[in-house]
Amino acid sequence: MIEFRGVNKYFGDFQVLKDIDFSVEEGEVVVVIGPSGSGKSTLLRCINALEEISSGELIVDGMRVHDRGTNLNTLRSEIGMVFQSFNLYPHKTVAENIKLAPTKVKGVSKGEADERCEKLLTRVGIPEQANKYPESLSGGQQQRVAIARGLAMEPRIMLFDEPTSALDPEMINEVLEAMADLARGGMTMVVVTHEMGFARRVADRVVFMDEGRIVETGTPEHFFREPENERAKRFLGQIL
Ligand code: ADP
Ligand code: MG
Repeated sequence: MIEFRGVNKYFGDFQVLKDIDFSVEEGEVVVVIGPSGSGKSTLLRCINALEEISSGELIVDGMRVHDRGTNLNTLRSEIGMVFQSFNLYPHKTVAENIKLAPTKVKGVSKGEADERCEKLLTRVGIPEQANKYPESLSGGQQQRVAIARGLAMEPRIMLFDEPTSALDPEMINEVLEAMADLARGGMTMVVVTHEMGFARRVADRVVFMDEGRIVETGTPEHFFREPENERAKRFLGQIL
């Protein structure tokens, strides 16, 4: 579903991604971890072309992202993304936030958008919040709206960039639970997170990045028990 082949990315002279070979199968859940500044967000942002790669090849759901001819709107409509900051539209209700892209971009009818919105809010456990404004919701609820909004275009891939990092501790689990539910439903997911419990429980594979490189990749069992990379060992020592 996602394939990086020898991908490099520079910001000016600074090389942020170094020779990345990385692939994600359909239905797979990959958790990306690593120190701050190691390139995790950039890696994710390349997948939906929020960042352009400098060299190499990147193929997402059969589309060659690095080709000029690729329709980025088509690409992005197949990928939902959830950020650390929820990025909801403050002047729109929860339901309006969720229905906006399907109706405006995909031309989904009002009736179908309503129905889809109701299902999605039920799925993330907040059907009763549809007509409220984001500011009146807790952080955990807002992030679940962001997940519902990401799903509203019926994407084939969901990307998460530290989705629980801005949340109070008591709200982290409700968001992780919504994500785990999505994973159980077979969604292809790439998740940047420091939540190691989630990684152990939900990930099919863990990828560790350091200074722009993928330096270790393995199953959670292997990665948490006996990482081979020194930097990964130290990192786990610090956060576990
Ligand atoms: P992470 O998500 O692992 O913390 P990022 O992908 O955000 O890492 O950033 C990796 C490195 O690239 C950092 O050193 C960061 O300062 C740099 N960087 C990120 N975005 C930009 C940008 N738009 N311009 C210049 N440097 C950037
Ligand atoms: Mg980041």
